[in-house]
Amino acid sequence: YNRYSTGVAAALEEPIKPPVTVNCTQLLINGQFVDAASGKTFPTLDPRTGEVIAHVAEADAEDINRAVSAARKAFDEGPWPKMTAYERSRIMLRFADLVEKHNDDIAALETWDNGKPYEQAAQIEIPMLARLFRYYAGWADKIHGLTVPADGPFHVQTLHEPIGVAGQIIPWNFPLLMFAWKVGPALACGNTVVLKTAEQTPLSALYVSKLFHEAGLPEGVLNVVSGFGPTAGAPLASHMDVDKLAFTGSTETGKIVLGLAAKSNLKPVTLELGGKSPFIVCDDADVDQAVELAHFALFFNQGQCCCAGSRTYVHERVYDEFVEKAKDRALKRVVGDPFKTGIEQGPQVDSEQFEKILEYIRNGVDSGATLETGGGRLGSKGYYIQPTVFSNVKDDMLIAQDEIFGPVQSILKFKDLNEVIQRANATPYGLAAGVFTKNLDTANTLTRALRVGTVWVNCFDTFDAAIPFGGYKMSGIGREKGIYSLSNYLQVKAVVTPLKNAAWL
Ligand code: NAD
Repeated sequence: YNRYSTGVAAALEEPIKPPVTVNCTQLLINGQFVDAASGKTFPTLDPRTGEVIAHVAEADAEDINRAVSAARKAFDEGPWPKMTAYERSRIMLRFADLVEKHNDDIAALETWDNGKPYEQAAQIEIPMLARLFRYYAGWADKIHGLTVPADGPFHVQTLHEPIGVAGQIIPWNFPLLMFAWKVGPALACGNTVVLKTAEQTPLSALYVSKLFHEAGLPEGVLNVVSGFGPTAGAPLASHMDVDKLAFTGSTETGKIVLGLAAKSNLKPVTLELGGKSPFIVCDDADVDQAVELAHFALFFNQGQCCCAGSRTYVHERVYDEFVEKAKDRALKRVVGDPFKTGIEQGPQVDSEQFEKILEYIRNGVDSGATLETGGGRLGSKGYYIQPTVFSNVKDDMLIAQDEIFGPVQSILKFKDLNEVIQRANATPYGLAAGVFTKNLDTANTLTRALRVGTVWVNCFDTFDAAIPFGGYKMSGIGREKGIYSLSNYLQVKAVVTPLKNAAWL
């Protein structure tokens, strides 16, 4: 893997100047950018260098109170829930237009704060942000209740009402897509929102929320606060005036916020948590195609995907060829300054994740897995890690059990379908799985047997707006995206009135 210690590493020493300036660093409360009540700020860092990009207002409980009161007032007094659904949808559509107009600036901020390749942000993620808001704008005026039959002379209808103030806590790996998955359905259903961004990536959500107000969003409907988990996230999760909580992040923190919601006002909670998703390569697979897809399934976004295909199970008949080719593919992975063109992999998001991943790699070596390529840092500054491949991985090794959240592929061998089903399911997680086969029967067997929220057959990470996403077991509760996400943000009210002299029942 010396390719990574020479030319590429040298190029990382001189980071490219990001083509954007930072102009939103305060909290967005009631339509205004304001300082934290305490006056405190925290630095957000460039993962390419570890240097400070900007100092951002640091919310604590008092700011959460201010943001929740603004959202409460906007919900109770309107205008948002009192507007027609068509008017709400038009504001969301105007927002999507502005996202498209400012696509490149938004993508540059996302890259600067997160480290993801600029081309990935500009060509996939920010267009997807606009797409998701158009999708949810389309739902806004199609949400309605039913007329239902009764056993006597009654007129019975259901009203699908907004639930109220939604508290939302998001992670740093896809800051704006997580924003869209949460804010989109909440607003389409007529709710108001207080969203806490991740402390590693506060910038882009503030920028786009400013655009949302330019699009005509009334004040108080969307409040965005930056800050840390225990001091800003926890007060939001336990707030008595928050009617619904949606969280994405680690399983460990998911348990904490679920507990806080239970101990306060028993607000309903949706959780999108960790995973250790199997990617199963069957014996009939075209090995070259399987290698490419398995590589993408794991390494996309620096390996920082909750659904990363992080246990690559390969049938013994194609195993040796697969391992050799997976190693070659990792060696070819283009790592570099994410602002450069043609870059496949940038730095990890921060030093904590970087150290954690290197520790897992050391653990993999110590536990006897074969390090095929990679295994160390790249360059001398920032948080770049060599694309790493382990073979001869066993199910009981830590690298096959824990969510590494980095560019580390673990390849395991299997003999038959029943065995791999049992092993793939033997994890507390159940977020996603990949299946690679030409055999329809094999595909059907696996898709039904795997206890996960998404199975991608001969594809991976297909994330259209209408496709629901969520986890079985300890990967979460509830579904986001698609029609299923709307029920997270609606209450169903039954209204029963007597019928007098009815012509029919
Ligand atoms: P995390 O769960 O600690 O953070 C996610 C969000 O929760 C952030 O906004 C954070 O500020 C907030 N938070 C943290 N503690 C909180 C608390 N006590 N109360 C309320 N909110 C709180 O995740 P992390 O530390 O950023 O990453 C740790 C690991 O989580 C990663 O290594 C990875 O394995 C996993 N992760 C998963 C996802 C996912 O999409 N499923 C995303 C990011 C990280």
